Amino acid sequence: MSWNERQRRMLAAMGVRLFAPAPAAPPPVEPPAPVEAAVIERPIEAVAAPVAPPRAATPTVAPAPARSPAPAPTPVRPPVPARGAAPVAAAVAAAIDPVLAERAAHIATLAWGPLHEAVAACTACGLCESRKQTVFGVGHAQADWMIVGEAPGEQEDLQGEPFVGAAGQLLDQMLRAVGLSRRAESGEGAEDDQAGDPAKRVFIANTLKCRPPRNRNPEPDEMARCEPFLKRQVELVKPRLILLMGRFAVTQLLKSDEAIGKLRGRVHRYEGIPVIVTYHPAYLLRNLPEKAKAWEDLCLAKATADGP
Ligand code: URA
Repeated sequence: MSWNERQRRMLAAMGVRLFAPAPAAPPPVEPPAPVEAAVIERPIEAVAAPVAPPRAATPTVAPAPARSPAPAPTPVRPPVPARGAAPVAAAVAAAIDPVLAERAAHIATLAWGPLHEAVAACTACGLCESRKQTVFGVGHAQADWMIVGEAPGEQEDLQGEPFVGAAGQLLDQMLRAVGLSRRAESGEGAEDDQAGDPAKRVFIANTLKCRPPRNRNPEPDEMARCEPFLKRQVELVKPRLILLMGRFAVTQLLKSDEAIGKLRGRVHRYEGIPVIVTYHPAYLLRNLPEKAKAWEDLCLAKATADGP
């Protein structure tokens, strides 16, 4: 048995003297097999897994500048948003942008007619270039319920009315199930938007008044620029209840990025008005089992609007 250097030192420390000679220098260690060889030997499933591409040669990096002894104070800027938080961050940014704030303050003074005209003439974002027309909203100006969706789609862009496509038909059915309608009953002067009992009517609006091209999601900046219109609509309608359908409506009014599933089932507030959150009808068309939850949400909305 031969002693290695560590063992020799340990034994020496313990007072044990060794007479065996120290071992010769260890043989050179074999370099590990190259990685490619290991890849070739992998079982098929492992080979199918993605293999990291070979690294590019490290680029020449400029030396880091010397640090100044006293770092400049950190500039105040909005926090870096988490995934999905961009709309909220944009809304906050818009709220502190003086030009947008001035525009919002002006919109906040408009009565129905001028508000409608301001929406129709709006060029605050790029959507004005691709829209056929703006989609202001529909329903009774003093309706008890206000419904807020996402943005006009192709049909809405063509007809100038929110929720007229397949999702809109589902929305109408859902509203009918709780005794509500976007239009007055026939015999009440159905052609007059303001006819009928406001307690049985809704006002429907969207977070965006213009169709995003190819029905893409609204951009944070578009939502921020369109928000004053929706805010003013809420102020003018003064609904007893707001029903938010889908995550963009939630982002716009509640400034929340939480999932609909987490927000539904309880009463939120927007400017003091009770708010119920539910799934977007287009989502329900793709996920039929969720309709039961949407029905629960409607029942909660009705109980909230009707009060104790
Ligand atoms: N989806 C919406 O959110 N709004 C519409 O107007 C149409 C479809």
